[in-house]
Amino acid sequence: MALKVLILGGTSEARRLALRLLPDVRFEARLSFAGRTDKLADPGVPFRVGGFGGAEGLAEYLDREGFHVLLDATHPFAAQMSRNAVRAALLSGLPLARLEPPPWRAAPGDRWIDVPDMALAAQALGDEPRRVFLSIGRLELAAFGAAPWHDYLIRAVDPFEPALPRARVIAARGPFALNEELDLLERARIEVLVSKNAGTASTRAKLDAARQLGLPVVMVARPSLPDVPMLADAEAALVWLELLHGVEMERGV
Ligand code: NAP
Repeated sequence: MALKVLILGGTSEARRLALRLLPDVRFEARLSFAGRTDKLADPGVPFRVGGFGGAEGLAEYLDREGFHVLLDATHPFAAQMSRNAVRAALLSGLPLARLEPPPWRAAPGDRWIDVPDMALAAQALGDEPRRVFLSIGRLELAAFGAAPWHDYLIRAVDPFEPALPRARVIAARGPFALNEELDLLERARIEVLVSKNAGTASTRAKLDAARQLGLPVVMVARPSLPDVPMLADAEAALVWLELLHGVEMERGV
């Protein structure tokens, strides 16, 4: 019988894994989206959309739908969902792993200012007005209300009206290439970037562009989360699922 896998998605690696599992008869995977973006592109795999109603709701969903495994492949900054996943796995007694790329590390030539959260990122921009590139999504922009004297160029998946006084939004979905990022930073005369340490390959080019242009990057560290088995990419997740499939077959799933 097939191993039923719920993949908490919202990242390109989650989708990549779901696509890898699709033709494999050993697995029956379903991708879950929070439903944050206006137009959800069809992922080409079975999926569902919307919150579960907390950890208890997720545990009930897992039991009701007969899942065998929970894989948390949400963005490294989707901390609430990741905490809920840990509790739901405990409640339902299912194995859980987190699919998450390792954090980016500064390379020679990088001018990173490491900060633990968004409020300190806003503070790190300083008292003098600067031209700032914010590629942090739209959910945590409120922190920059404390530093309204900067000019912000905000990049997000969907267009929106920013609440910040001196802000402009560009709507774009990655992956972004180095030449595009260089062009964007130069044309907008950006002086400093703010980034979450996502570790994703598709959004790394802005950091290479910043290094080439000698620009500082305020780098926001990931939230700390409970320890669970970590898988760096879809290939590692596949190996983990194959092992689980073997174990479950012996137990007669
Ligand atoms: P969050 O703060 O950790 O989650 C808030 C709530 O949204 C969760 O408690 C859950 O609601 C619901 N939710 C989140 N991810 C879900 C999923 N995959 N399936 C079903 N429900 C989900 O998460 P967030 O920061 O709002 O991020 C939402 C989604 O956007 C995630 O899928 C994440 O991977 C993606 N994303 C986030 C970021 C980021 O920087 N935070 C960046 C890129 C993409 P209930 O409690 O009702 O179940």
